[in-house]
Amino acid sequence: MRRAEESQLNHSIDNPNDVVLLAPFTGPVVPLADVPDPVFAEGMFGDGIGIDPLDNVLVSPCDGVVTHLARTHHAVTLRTKEGAEILVHIGIDTVELGGKGFTPKVQQGATVRAGEALIEFDTDFVAQHAPSLVSVIAIANGDAFDVIDRAGRGVLKAGSRMLVLRQKHGEKADTARAGAVVLDEARRSLTLSHAGGLHARPAARAREAARGLDAKVEVRYEGKKAPIESVVGLLGLGAGEGATIELVGIGAQSQQAVDAVAAELLRAGQGEIEETPARAKSPAPAVKPAASGEPLPPNTLAGVCAAPGIAVGKLVRWDDQEIVPPEQASGASAAESRALDKAIAQVDAELGETVRTASQRGAVGEAGIFAVHRVLLEDPTLVDAARDLISLGKSAGFAWREAIRAQIALLSNVQDELLAERAADLRDIEKRVLRALGLSSAAAVELPPEAVLAATEFTPSDLSSIDRTRVTALVMARGGATSHAAIIARQIGIPALVAIGDALHAIPEGTQVVVDASAGRIEHAPTALDVERARNERERLAGVREANRKLSGEAASTKDGRAIEVAANIATLDDAKAAVENGADSVGLLRTELLFIHRQSAPTAAEHAQSYQGIVEALQGRTAIIRTLDVGADKEVDYLTLPPEENPALGLRGVRLAQVRPDLLDDQLRGLLAVKPAGAVRILLPMVTDSGELQRLRARIDELAREAGRSDPVEVGVMIEVPSAALLADQLAKHADFLSIGTNDLTQYTLAMDRCQPDLAALSDGLHPAVLRLIKTAVQGAEKHGKWVGVCGALGGDPVAAPLLIGLGVTELSVDPGSVPGIKARVRNLDYQLCRQRAEDCLALESAQAVRAASREIWPRD
Ligand code: PEP
Ligand code: MG
Repeated sequence: MRRAEESQLNHSIDNPNDVVLLAPFTGPVVPLADVPDPVFAEGMFGDGIGIDPLDNVLVSPCDGVVTHLARTHHAVTLRTKEGAEILVHIGIDTVELGGKGFTPKVQQGATVRAGEALIEFDTDFVAQHAPSLVSVIAIANGDAFDVIDRAGRGVLKAGSRMLVLRQKHGEKADTARAGAVVLDEARRSLTLSHAGGLHARPAARAREAARGLDAKVEVRYEGKKAPIESVVGLLGLGAGEGATIELVGIGAQSQQAVDAVAAELLRAGQGEIEETPARAKSPAPAVKPAASGEPLPPNTLAGVCAAPGIAVGKLVRWDDQEIVPPEQASGASAAESRALDKAIAQVDAELGETVRTASQRGAVGEAGIFAVHRVLLEDPTLVDAARDLISLGKSAGFAWREAIRAQIALLSNVQDELLAERAADLRDIEKRVLRALGLSSAAAVELPPEAVLAATEFTPSDLSSIDRTRVTALVMARGGATSHAAIIARQIGIPALVAIGDALHAIPEGTQVVVDASAGRIEHAPTALDVERARNERERLAGVREANRKLSGEAASTKDGRAIEVAANIATLDDAKAAVENGADSVGLLRTELLFIHRQSAPTAAEHAQSYQGIVEALQGRTAIIRTLDVGADKEVDYLTLPPEENPALGLRGVRLAQVRPDLLDDQLRGLLAVKPAGAVRILLPMVTDSGELQRLRARIDELAREAGRSDPVEVGVMIEVPSAALLADQLAKHADFLSIGTNDLTQYTLAMDRCQPDLAALSDGLHPAVLRLIKTAVQGAEKHGKWVGVCGALGGDPVAAPLLIGLGVTELSVDPGSVPGIKARVRNLDYQLCRQRAEDCLALESAQAVRAASREIWPRD
């Protein structure tokens, strides 16, 4: 070998405390960034150097202790006396060889000298069976040591100086932590079986699952890789439903991290409101009619219904004009960087506030969408790319826009509609940050009344800033029924049509249009007759709603005099006001968990009392059934850091949580018992399984009531949402004051169909005869003890189900506030005796569809 070709260190005078590492084999130097594996090239293992070995023995680069020898003998970790942790990894992806081709020459724990043989390897075998022989020497505890000199390109001889490390100022490597840095790798393949695949929420949750663990995890799919910290990178993998991905973890807790990420990804889809709106909360959008060959009427474009309804109005283009930031920075890079940080922090705070208010309104879907935006905002892929551009002299705005655009370009190559839709979320945070940087686009669009807003695609923040009183419909050229904008449109009740195509852009601004979102059509230049028909239909529906509202303040009973209490399900103070406005007789279910999500700590008894007191006052004398915390499963709160469960729906949820956190329930009960006047509140216990559980809880309530100095009896009810509770209702009713049937859970547990699984949404119907029979059993059990039964699950607000529930003996229906007038009107048109007979007949039917069909026929509706 000619001397000129040899690689040399520049550094010649050593500080006695520096650590000098010698080449562990002979071979050409490969700068770390050129190592053909991003795990190393991007520094996941730490700073270091690569060598393409020509020898078949790995010798120790320093004196030290072997703190870890990989099970598969392809890698070793050494600790020097100064505390530097040196990882040497032979070849790329060699863990896959399962130890074949490697022969260890030392054992873990051995003290070795520089130059001593550590691992012998079969270069031919490894070269043939691994993607590359390039090996890496990396400093695992880079927080304590800097590489101050390294060999340049050229060939290094084994034993020649390769790297010089210097202890960082003020950092003391913890030499007592023997074995702390471990080159453990863990791998796991899994198939994403849920709708949407690796979309924003699961990606964000998976990232959280790995946070704090001593391991780096990356996700690999079809030759692409992304670190778990980068949600944007994960989305860019394009791993849709059915994709088989591989998780690779490196570090002491690699197995734990990989398992935690896998558990998150496997349970994704549950409670994913943004991608899979729950059937009970917002009707699944009708799908665009298949091209049936049937020609569309003239001047009509077809789209996909994202939110049902019919509207007439003038088309207004909402498409925001581009915000075009100046390319070059006007000041120093450091100032631009600070401006970007400040803008991101401001947007983060705004989003935090939006999430908080949406949660308070009970708009869980909307809250989830903006929570994902917060995660995207701090994504290292975006922020690092922007910083790189700033360091090249670009302005903060330009750098941010370019960073986002690069990711959007990646996402638009992804062959998965749901993932590609997340580009709209990125565009949204692009605009927000640019605005926070003081950049603006066109002046705000002036909206006429009855505006039909048209855009290529709305972003969620477009919808949060529009004047909702003036917008009568939303139409989009692109987008999907699962886009976040579509979900918000459904939540705010504005008819919306998506995926109309570019033909939408050809409709001139100001044109009168009829949007029949339910039918998936937009008609431009409609005839006077079309407009009249549409207006008539809209008015008819509005008239029916209005007539119902007028009477809704009065109690409802059937034509033959059976009184039915129509109560409201609420979650917030605003809902309580809506319940009163809509004429609810009472509150049949206050879901308390929504009052306390997004908090760092559990509420105190005083905070509970204050929240409930406010709600009780807003109810103006109506009673409220307040359910104790039902967290777990699909309802999560931030401050409960319980370990993830394999089957959260069957785990520590509802009152079961009190087994591990009795303090939470006690504080809530104390708060409930402090509300005045005492009779305004009834307590409802969720997820009770049998009467032993109820009796224990009741005894605790009585004890706390005595402590609070209350002498009057406290009414306690039980949710019937577990089949065992329905079957044992007679035993429960002996100790309870009333029963309230939670048909959402009762259906999921009876039919063994996850209530959040979109593929089962159509089948998971509470009108299944099996569920109806359990409801009948529950009512009969309650009647034995003279107790009343209500329904607070979504079935109670379903006009098709109401006659049957009443026929089975239910005397209270607790429904969304907006549904109260319609359900009261429905009750008033029923004959209880007929309901009884027909409900009995329906119990003999064999499917939910048959029950639905029978009900529709007997009790047709508007
Ligand atoms: C139910 O399960 O029907 C119910 C009302 O409770 P939740 O939907 O809050 O689980
Ligand atoms: Mg429930």
